[in-house]
Amino acid sequence: MNYETIPELHRGVKILHDPLRNKGTAFTEAEREALGLRGLLPPKVHSHAGQELRVLGALRSKVTDLERYLYLMALQDRNETLFFRVVINHIEEMMPLIYTPTVGQACQEFGHIYQRPRGLYVSLEDRGRVKEVLENWPHRDARIIVVTDGERILGLGDLGSNGMGIPIGKLALYTACAGVNPAQCLPVMLDVGTDNETLLNDRLYNGLERKRSRGERFDALVEEFVTAAEEVFPGVLIQFEDFGNANAFRLLARYRDQICCFDDDIQGTGAVTLAGILASQRITGSPLADQRILFLGAGEAGIGIADAVVAALVDEGMDAAEAREHCWFMDSQGLLVKERGEVAVSKRPYVREAKGTRSLLEAVNMIEPTALIGISGQPGKFTREVVEAMARINKRPLVFALSNPTSKSECTAEQAYTWSEGRAIFASGSPFDTVLYEGKKLVPGQGNNAYIFPGVGLGVIASRARRVNDKMFLAAARTLAGLVTEGDLEQGRIYPPLSRIRYVSAAIAKEVATIAYRDGLADREEPDDIQADVYAQVYQPVYPHYA
Ligand code: NAD
Repeated sequence: MNYETIPELHRGVKILHDPLRNKGTAFTEAEREALGLRGLLPPKVHSHAGQELRVLGALRSKVTDLERYLYLMALQDRNETLFFRVVINHIEEMMPLIYTPTVGQACQEFGHIYQRPRGLYVSLEDRGRVKEVLENWPHRDARIIVVTDGERILGLGDLGSNGMGIPIGKLALYTACAGVNPAQCLPVMLDVGTDNETLLNDRLYNGLERKRSRGERFDALVEEFVTAAEEVFPGVLIQFEDFGNANAFRLLARYRDQICCFDDDIQGTGAVTLAGILASQRITGSPLADQRILFLGAGEAGIGIADAVVAALVDEGMDAAEAREHCWFMDSQGLLVKERGEVAVSKRPYVREAKGTRSLLEAVNMIEPTALIGISGQPGKFTREVVEAMARINKRPLVFALSNPTSKSECTAEQAYTWSEGRAIFASGSPFDTVLYEGKKLVPGQGNNAYIFPGVGLGVIASRARRVNDKMFLAAARTLAGLVTEGDLEQGRIYPPLSRIRYVSAAIAKEVATIAYRDGLADREEPDDIQADVYAQVYQPVYPHYA
């Protein structure tokens, strides 16, 4: 049994207001006596399971998802153990509430629905004293920081300081999906202003009321933050999250070999989508080397996926230049071809020698892709004609409409299945319901980054890895694809159900930790049994017994 001795400081009403220690009505008679809680709680002692039932009842009685989000956030602020018990035991129901799509709406309205602070806000005003700000964080053992500047929140654009909902949500997923201890998770908002006029004109906006800072001032703040984070929380893993396109690529290039960090929008998306493509091979029977992939959208996520595909092909023995020829891109300016002239650095490796077009249908007919990946934030771009063309070209076309939230999806699951006569292998970014097509139940895959980053983070923590490398993401993708069962595939499902996500994360963590040990990146000695060692570090939402 898990016993914890509570210092005098945390007794009485203080423990009720400490979300990591609070048990609410589940404090036993003996604990109430010992901790000075008599009279501070209603007399009946409830079990943890009883509390869970109450939460579910209250949650399900709410009318809108935003109300459910608010209820869950308030619960997390009150009693984290109960919050995580509910989220873990009902992950399929809770994931869309604590993350996309609901978190997107919550971020849009963050200033209006704001109740309590969570995480750390580091703003331009803190320059020169960022370390001091980080030292205000009450938990010394932060091991994972998710940091955003709010410039590209999901597919919703610049939400400035309102973007704080994303690091909070992602860190909740680290705990729910992989068992990273919530006391080791630190959400950070790097507030450098916003170019969102609606927010700047909103009296209830909580962030800096100024235009976004770029260039040297921005870089200096990031550098000060990264340096301070390393000093205050040695070895901490920093996840860059939802930065704007140019900064995301720049920051990753600058810091990936210097500190323990990764960018989930680029690398996490790359790995989860690669896993979906790999799992699909077991349905189509055609290997990765035979894929021709057309991306709609050449941003962080699109390029991240292509880089992951190229890394996998190179690992299989293909030459990098040849591997890149398997990927075609279309962005807001049309097909990525030479005749367009100068393009952003990140896109250069994928510029092709071909005729340009701005029509997706024309591009599909010309390239004859085996896979179409929508990652543009532009809803409805996969029209009936486009999906029908994919179905004409392929027996089992891959149609991934990955843009988030649901309202931005390039097509719905139902459209993809109906327009392809039930033959499309479909995946989305935000969840879609199961579709009944001509009597057959088709289950859309959700290419949710939550299949990847929590396991990667757990592996980094377990091995005390000093760096996160591409090998780790490739291993994560292959592990995830390998855990899709024949039963899943029969339903058209290319990802395991979320109910198995903690198992998936532990398996990924083992692979990541193994690479860290074998590549000399770990700050710990390799244990005899890496998987058992990973499991030993997994947080369980179980109340301690206070003595
Ligand atoms: P980004 O801003 O870096 O890139 C967007 C890209 O879309 C750019 O290349 C842009 O030129 C292109 N684009 C814009 N309008 C277009 C149009 N009309 N036609 C073709 N291309 C167009 O954004 P990002 O980080 O790459 O994210 C893009 C989308 O992918 C977002 O909606 C995001 O939520 C989603 N996403 C999903 C997952 C997932 O499913 N796991 C992960 C990451 C991102």
